[in-house]
Amino acid sequence: MSSLNNGAAGKKFVRRNEKLKASTNISIGGALDILRSHLNVKDERPTIPLGHGDPSPFGCFRTTHVADDALSNAVKSAKFNSYVPVGGILPARRSVAEYLSRDLPYKLSPEEVFLTSGCRQAIEVIISVLSYPGANILIPKPGYPHYDGCASANNLEIRHFDLLPEKAWEIDIEAVEALSDQNTVAIVVINPGNPCGNVYTYDHLKKVAETAKRLGIRVIADEVYGHLTFGSNPFIPMGVFGSTVPVFTLGSISKRWSVPGWRLGWLVITDPNGFLKQAEIPSSIKQYLNMSNNPASVIQGAVPRILENTPEDFFKNIISLLREALDICAEEIKEITCITLLHKSQGSIFVMIKLNTSLLKDITDDLDFCIKLAKEESVIILPGVVLGLKNWLRITFSIDIPSLKDALRRIKSFCDRHAKPQ
Ligand SMILES: *Cc1c(COP(=O)(O)O)cnc(C)c1O
Repeated sequence: MSSLNNGAAGKKFVRRNEKLKASTNISIGGALDILRSHLNVKDERPTIPLGHGDPSPFGCFRTTHVADDALSNAVKSAKFNSYVPVGGILPARRSVAEYLSRDLPYKLSPEEVFLTSGCRQAIEVIISVLSYPGANILIPKPGYPHYDGCASANNLEIRHFDLLPEKAWEIDIEAVEALSDQNTVAIVVINPGNPCGNVYTYDHLKKVAETAKRLGIRVIADEVYGHLTFGSNPFIPMGVFGSTVPVFTLGSISKRWSVPGWRLGWLVITDPNGFLKQAEIPSSIKQYLNMSNNPASVIQGAVPRILENTPEDFFKNIISLLREALDICAEEIKEITCITLLHKSQGSIFVMIKLNTSLLKDITDDLDFCIKLAKEESVIILPGVVLGLKNWLRITFSIDIPSLKDALRRIKSFCDRHAKPQ
């Protein structure tokens, strides 16, 4: 008997969308699975996860009681057990519009807000809506691989522009100009940044907006870390420049409220001139969402209270925790010769650090470093190659302080052990 892959009949069963195969190769989850498979089960120390950004398991990052109560009240009210309209229920859309309008020079309307299953679905929706044969999109490098995955799955050509470490990870505007053409549909701006922790100044964002206007390309502003800033630059939403260039603002409650599993995000049209409406983009978004799914009705029922009633102290406490954790990272990294922190993060929950393999005797690159670190020290960190930057490492510092210190000590002893004799 021939195996399934042999023979004409077997061949039929293997056909599939090859683009999806490509996109799993560049996912963070895929890389973390590989690293976890190298963990030493005999190591009795706890595994310390600095590879992905999910602070929710740690008590110190527990969400506010306001969010807990809002969700349980929504369930108990029995008002949110039905199917919900595409784009979300009106009070929820209105509350997101009001929440975002606080930081804008104009007021958003609920019709400009589409609720999504986390920010990830907002990315999926907007990439699908903007794709057409022959089109291309500008994506930052390093970046968030879900953009690459979605673009690839939609046959949208990916053109990467660099973020410049020596310029606080600002966008290489000249590269953006050189890369774009009449088929460029959008530029992705992630601010505050994952993985670089950049928080762009008003002037830089203005320059990006003016460049995009000149080139005739829209901006996809990923602000999932909006307000999670602890450096000298305040968070400025890209929508502030919505009258310069049409902006799609993407966000969620996942990061700021530390509830990524609740899956409540948004895709918002920040375009006071109405160009996107003229182009019937909102109806395309609705059409896409019609074939896809909605965030659960109960979280939609809870979101107005979460956005309106969360006490400032909750946010302040999270910010000061993140600042403290980052300071510890920065101090400890100084003590480790083979890794360097070139630019201290000002926001988000990540730092990018540069790896110098020439100081190590038996480590070939960032992936090798991370695999051996997982095996020998039970610490997971993300190799930069997954984010488009070889021989860099991304560390998440949104974890309880004792575990963070423990992890950094383990990283130091790993580096000492593998150092080339001087
Ligand atoms: C975490 C993250 C997302 C996804 O957010 P969810 O709300 O959990 O779907 C999107 N963009 C960036 C840059 C992220 O870091």
